[in-house]
Amino acid sequence: MSLVADSPLARRVAPSPNHGARRAGPVDMMILHYTGMESGASALARLRDPLSEVSAHYLVFEDGGIVQMVPEARRAWHAGAGAWKGEADVNSRSIGIEIVHPGHAGGLPPYPEAQVAAVTALARDILGRWPIPPARVLAHSDVAPERKEDPGETFPWARLAAAGVGHWVPPVPLRDGRFFAQGDSGQPVEALQAMFTLYGYDLPVQGVFDARTHAVVTAFQRHFRQARVDGVADASTITTLRDLIAALPAA
Ligand SMILES: [Zn+2]
Repeated sequence: MSLVADSPLARRVAPSPNHGARRAGPVDMMILHYTGMESGASALARLRDPLSEVSAHYLVFEDGGIVQMVPEARRAWHAGAGAWKGEADVNSRSIGIEIVHPGHAGGLPPYPEAQVAAVTALARDILGRWPIPPARVLAHSDVAPERKEDPGETFPWARLAAAGVGHWVPPVPLRDGRFFAQGDSGQPVEALQAMFTLYGYDLPVQGVFDARTHAVVTAFQRHFRQARVDGVADASTITTLRDLIAALPAA
């Protein structure tokens, strides 16, 4: 299949064989990733290797160069096992963007300016073609909190939001107060789990702050309250989540 770029921002196309037909629709999510590899060249090679069985629609290099690898109409293989708002086939519902970055293992450096600008422009371009609501522009860690931590807590979600990409409220500053952590249980924990579920996270509401809950709180912090990523549901985390829910458009 010859690949024609869907985005006018794609500098070139580098087709990946790793895609299939979408099994569920509509396309109404965007998932952002980091490659977590040493170089863009090695990430590009992996995303084109049939044996890797991974791909993304786009790869954004550190200098802002954008390569399209899979047609937007097709199902790329970037999200794997995970769920959001009860949908487990995230790949069928989403456009996937891989961002060249060494990841947590590489010390989680800041994302270069040119790369952030390119990701923002690409996301805006994609949002112009597909009915993706702001609150469904997500981190890989949001949809797979126990498996994934990308694009990580140095990813500048606030800047994307300022450009109209994603759902965002200013995080509530860190402060003392009541908090919940792994091992706690009871009605307040159940209420907290219900709030995360309401926002979209895949989390059983059962009243025990378990490993899964810890992972969801951590994922939330990586995206929405980056000042401290520790999986503890402190007052700042809970209030930021409450504000985000309150800022959702009426269904
Ligand atoms: Zn990822």
